[in-house]
Amino acid sequence: MLGQIADKNAFLSGLSAAEYGALRGHLAPLELRVGQCLHYLGDQIEEVVFPSSGLVAMTVPLRDNAGAAAGLIGRDGMVGAIAAIAAAPAACDAVVHISGQASRLSAAAFRDVLDENPSIRRRVARYGYGLIAQLQQTALCHAAHPVESRICRWLLAIQGRCAGDRVPLTQSTLAQMLGVRRTTVTLVAGRLEAAGVLKCHRGYMQIVNQQELERRCCECHAHFNGYMSKLLAPSAETPAAEGARPARPVPERSGRRVI
Ligand SMILES: [Zn+2]
Repeated sequence: MLGQIADKNAFLSGLSAAEYGALRGHLAPLELRVGQCLHYLGDQIEEVVFPSSGLVAMTVPLRDNAGAAAGLIGRDGMVGAIAAIAAAPAACDAVVHISGQASRLSAAAFRDVLDENPSIRRRVARYGYGLIAQLQQTALCHAAHPVESRICRWLLAIQGRCAGDRVPLTQSTLAQMLGVRRTTVTLVAGRLEAAGVLKCHRGYMQIVNQQELERRCCECHAHFNGYMSKLLAPSAETPAAEGARPARPVPERSGRRVI
């Protein structure tokens, strides 16, 4: 059954009324502020956070600098859920880059609700699988694709988690998230601006030609979105639907193929 919940967080709004009812009493509001770290690498997760706006980056820190973002979580998802289920230490920092609003609940309450509601646990597992897909796509992208197409991909990914055509980030924050120099982002942003793709303002970037931005983006954006559409399709949520599918032969590939 598709969710009917009027919550701005996609995971919560995708729950059935009964599933949402099991969580609702445990949820409390949380304001997300730029620079706030919801958890640090190695922390025991104490809360699960469901953003309804704003942006949180899953950041792998380095000894000498802030590191780079491996994945993004906005109103499409939740922060800390997978580690909370396993009562495992956090595998990254979770840093707020765009302010917003969220709901939170304690990791202990989250585990209790999931123990009593296997259907929510299955939804969390699917979400977790999507998160893994995002992380592996980012790893591939960092290794295989040029910086301009990576910047385009990041802009599209952030825009997808915010409303409208504005990406409320400075070039310096974008550089930090990508793990590149600020001057590199400035150079690429200048090229995109000259091509009429982007307009840079103080404190935010405005996408003025979405189609051209998508054209300049590497294949990772479309590949990941296509996978998520399949993963989150209502028909894919029933385990029985997967049972009768025949095995497909492994395609033969000639030469190197990135994805
Ligand atoms: Zn890529």
